[in-house]
Amino acid sequence: AESGVQFGFDNTYARLPERFYARLDPTPVAQPRLLKLNVKLAELLGLDPEQLASADGVEILAGNRVAAGSEPLAQAYAGHQYAHFVPQLGDGRANLLGEVVGCDGVRYDIHLKGSGQTPFSRRGDGRAAVGPVLREYIVGEAMAALGIPTTRALAAVATGEQIMREVPLPGAVLTRVAASHLRVGTFEYFAAQGDAHGVKTLADYAIARHYPEAAQAERRYRALLDGVVARQARLVAQWMMVGFVHGVMNTDNTSISGETIDYGPCAFMEAFHPATVFSSIDRQGRYAWGNQPRILLWNLTRLAEALMAVLVEEAGSPEAGLESATKALEAFAPQYEAAQLAGLRKKLGLFTEQDGDMDLVKDLLERMAANGADFTLTFRRLGDAVLGDDEGVRALFADGAAFDEWALTWRARMGVESVAPEERAARMMRVNPIYIPRNHMVEAALNAAVTREDLRPFEELLEAVMQPYEERAGWERFAVPAKPEERVVATFC
Ligand code: AMP
Ligand code: MG
Ligand code: MG
Repeated sequence: AESGVQFGFDNTYARLPERFYARLDPTPVAQPRLLKLNVKLAELLGLDPEQLASADGVEILAGNRVAAGSEPLAQAYAGHQYAHFVPQLGDGRANLLGEVVGCDGVRYDIHLKGSGQTPFSRRGDGRAAVGPVLREYIVGEAMAALGIPTTRALAAVATGEQIMREVPLPGAVLTRVAASHLRVGTFEYFAAQGDAHGVKTLADYAIARHYPEAAQAERRYRALLDGVVARQARLVAQWMMVGFVHGVMNTDNTSISGETIDYGPCAFMEAFHPATVFSSIDRQGRYAWGNQPRILLWNLTRLAEALMAVLVEEAGSPEAGLESATKALEAFAPQYEAAQLAGLRKKLGLFTEQDGDMDLVKDLLERMAANGADFTLTFRRLGDAVLGDDEGVRALFADGAAFDEWALTWRARMGVESVAPEERAARMMRVNPIYIPRNHMVEAALNAAVTREDLRPFEELLEAVMQPYEERAGWERFAVPAKPEERVVATFC
């Protein structure tokens, strides 16, 4: 049945060949109840928040009704999961409802996650639990507020159904908004089948949607690969600089648009250590914080392989195609390093470029790791240190002298620049957040929602992380690292 809520769908993915997806409607749920609606995002999408929050709107967000113009489908994709290739994954618990062009002129996917089984479900139940849905909501919105490209949450709806995990859990559906859901794994899906025409069709689609400038290039597929490498290099640099650990950097979770996608067992680090992992299944630490850049390059290498047929064709020979791919991948390291160094200079309050700046950063990180310093607060409190108050940052180090030593070099380096301390501190406060979704706060918010149907802790934490740079009275609890007994060491999807 069609409903009265106006989305203004304008679908392009559904125009691609049938083998790109399976058309099917979401599976209805027992008792939809709106947990949270993202009013600002609804407005950006040109949607009426009141309509969305109405009984009719909630039925759509739960998958119980198909909105006018929606052409629900489950997308096909493959992927390397923990380096192991799986030729068919696909949306096993999701439906792309359609696309909407936002008030910003960007085309967005409107996508339900947890909306029932599909031909790609394998042994899964097609459902999602309230806890992980709210985690994806809060972490995604925090990332957006930090200026990091990401999918967004439009709504979370409780289904009124129990789902079976280790224990029965209340179910939910997330409405996810993305510049698209194209993944490295989408290219791998066609490449692995020897479907060069599928790869080309997908590449042309990706260019039109995300890299229109590549259409003018002499070698358009090379330009596409260059574009993805550039955006992903910048993205992972941004993750690194806020202490974000994605948790499942499989190729099916690496987007072509350059957005962070698929928030599962992800988290923000507290005490800094490069080997930090939260995912309960990542026992080898493959996706640890410090491995993320090289894992991303590994994933981009899988993309280059998947594009090989079209790279060879446009380059004119297998050798030239291989060289083209190699050149594109070689650009990753310098682009990542440049983005990282530029970002870290700002975080340290440095506004010019000096040789040795990277050594200064590395020295700080080593001291932070050796002293269990909180990642977020160390950078934030450097802003206070610029104004002469070292106590806050010093106290984050097990041995305060480890900070004092480093600070001598840092102050000498700042002295090279003639920037007033107030100005420097103010600029640092705009790049070093005070509020991030700390794991124990997220966990407490999800627990309250799941066990007491109390969404207040979720709402309060969400409000804080959506204004991450503005320190406020009354919000101190969001800025404090977990006490030892509060520490959450593993997250689950
Ligand atoms: P992820 O680890 O979230 O990236 O998911 C990997 C694959 O497993 C994707 O194809 C998902 O659609 C699928 N999947 C995850 N959870 C479920 C579920 N509960 N039911 C069906 N498919 C699922
Ligand atoms: Mg995924
Ligand atoms: Mg997932």
